Amino acid sequence: MEQSVSEWLRRDSERLWHPYSSLTEPSPVRLVRGASGVRLRLDDGAGGTVEAIDAMSSWWCMIHGYRNPVLDAAVKRQVDDFSHVMFGGLTHEPAIRLAERLVEISPAPLRHVFFCDSGSVSVEVAIKLALQYQVARGNSGRTRMLTVRGGYHGDTFAPMSVCDPVNGMHSLFTGALKEQVFGPQPPAGFERPDDDPEFAAWAAAITGLAERQADQIAGIIVEPVLQGAGGMYPYSPACLRVLRDLADRHGFLLILDEIATGFGRTGTLFASEHAGVDPDILCIGKALTGGYLSMAATLCTTEVAHTVSDGPGGALMHGPTFMANPLACAVALASIDLLLSQDWAARVARISAGLSAGLAPAASLPGVKDVRVLGAVGVVQLGGPVDMKRMTEAVLRRGVWVRPFRDLVYTMPPYVCTDEEIAAIGAAITGAVREVG
Ligand SMILES: *Cc1c(COP(=O)(O)O)cnc(C)c1O
Repeated sequence: MEQSVSEWLRRDSERLWHPYSSLTEPSPVRLVRGASGVRLRLDDGAGGTVEAIDAMSSWWCMIHGYRNPVLDAAVKRQVDDFSHVMFGGLTHEPAIRLAERLVEISPAPLRHVFFCDSGSVSVEVAIKLALQYQVARGNSGRTRMLTVRGGYHGDTFAPMSVCDPVNGMHSLFTGALKEQVFGPQPPAGFERPDDDPEFAAWAAAITGLAERQADQIAGIIVEPVLQGAGGMYPYSPACLRVLRDLADRHGFLLILDEIATGFGRTGTLFASEHAGVDPDILCIGKALTGGYLSMAATLCTTEVAHTVSDGPGGALMHGPTFMANPLACAVALASIDLLLSQDWAARVARISAGLSAGLAPAASLPGVKDVRVLGAVGVVQLGGPVDMKRMTEAVLRRGVWVRPFRDLVYTMPPYVCTDEEIAAIGAAITGAVREVG
């Protein structure tokens, strides 16, 4: 017999953790009955379903929409071949092709690829590369990472240690987290001019910090141009040039975490292109597979790869069970080909313009502190913490799915949204903010 939605939700709440959830005070969840194109079909609790535009792209991932025929076909083809094999001692075409494709489209100095299964693990691998690199160069005292406040790099322990120490989870894990070197957050605003005094003050502060601690620092890690889960916070590309320069001067490796910003989200294929800065190590994930399967990658230069390989370990010391999963590789290849076969930059620019127009009226609402758009990312920042439950419901009543956090209601829509759908997202968020405040 068909189970009622309340029965499913009761079973869920008894057994399942959700992201950042409590088992004693579970927050509401909604049952997905289907998903197609840019829409989720949610159970309405009354025997029917309600459709909502997924304005989150399932957390940055689902850029081509759900049940995309090209991506569906790629997975099915690979299932008929083989779904998984171990990557120790074995290899396969999907992994080789995808690695070559990533090297082709990513910043030129990056030549080698490590595949893993989540963004957090790709950051673990990036930090491990930096540490092994310094050991190989005889700098075994360089064990810390330099980063800026406001960042987010994932939930496992090494990434957590470089997340913002205040709004991250540091206070819960004091003593268990590596103490990293935190510089100030870059001044807000993508368009900030280079001769701006706040930029100069930031550059001087981070430069001083790097100089004082240089003999302890293995690498710098940041999200280029847009800090994501730490606050949906854009900053000037000029800051990345400062960090590149510090890395070169002091022998740090520059790690750019493009897990959220990669694959066109900020208007360039990789956000580092805004700055004309190449990293030594790059992390990608999220949209890599078009949201179909869990996969991430860490890319590095030949200098890094060879130094680590010739170092004391004689190898990069990492090897996940599901490394280079063939299904994930196949769908990632299809997703990248699909993206690059279209004028994705024009699409992102149109989404950007649509979000700017749609969210502009929110700027003058009481309780709104800031409205900002960068690429296909739109953000309404409130004056205080958002009532997540009421805001989610108010946006959903207007036909759109969002997941607000802290003081932010924000969207990063699938690239396949039409102009009308982008307008609907802007109107739903603005209307809900007007209602809930
Ligand atoms: C999401 C995210 C991660 C972590 O990726 P997971 O796949 O959730 O482990 C790391 N860095 C950035 C910038 C992210 O947005």
